[in-house]
Amino acid sequence: CGIVGYVGERNSLDVLMGGLRRLEYRGYDSAGVAVIDDEGEIETAKRAGKLQVLADELERHPIHRGGTGIGHTRWATHGGPTDRNAHPHLGDDGRLALIHNGIIENFSELKDELLAEGFAFESETDTEVAAVLLGREYRRTGDLRSAFQAIVSRFEGAFTLLAVHRNEPGLVVGARRNSPLVIGLGEGENFLGSDVAAFVEFTKRAVAIGQDQIVAITADEVTVTDFDGEPVEVEPFEVAWDA
Ligand code: GLU
Repeated sequence: CGIVGYVGERNSLDVLMGGLRRLEYRGYDSAGVAVIDDEGEIETAKRAGKLQVLADELERHPIHRGGTGIGHTRWATHGGPTDRNAHPHLGDDGRLALIHNGIIENFSELKDELLAEGFAFESETDTEVAAVLLGREYRRTGDLRSAFQAIVSRFEGAFTLLAVHRNEPGLVVGARRNSPLVIGLGEGENFLGSDVAAFVEFTKRAVAIGQDQIVAITADEVTVTDFDGEPVEVEPFEVAWDA
């Protein structure tokens, strides 16, 4: 239901938890984060319940500092509101983490295809299909942007997707169809959010991602393409909001 992404010098976990709090007004039943820590490993934490439940979990089992991360609040549509069904979901044997807002309508046929190839699933969500498929394509392309390009046209329905891969530690890639995604432009840092509330505390310069587009952010660069990989010109605007 709510999505935040960050790449920069700050502790991404603080940015993600702050952004998720600002998105709480939208309602949710679970929350989770994935951070690429300073050792280049992906660390995740996810819990059914309020953000405070996740915050308490992070207090008990701290995640190492890291400047790249993604955060999610879930409004369950496929699979009950459990810890296991909470996002992020993993692909490429845990090297990749993905979050999703929306519904992938044709997930069960994609899941059958992946099951037939021997892939295993840990949740009942439509989302995990995207994580596993993205992992499969990452194995083939070795590049998160290309892997996204290979999968997004296969999904019917509504989605905002964000993912990180441990082999590309300073990068968050996202895509959207029928569900919103906005970039927050910073100095030496960049943000993604399902809504400007996710990052307005840090920057008021934003770019709305268009329908059927893929975005990649690093600390100093933002690139947007269509689903075929053709570059798209971005048009920044100022958020009119007193944070
Ligand atoms: N359909 C996904 C799920 O049930 C995402 C729901 C959402 O938008 O939070 O896990």
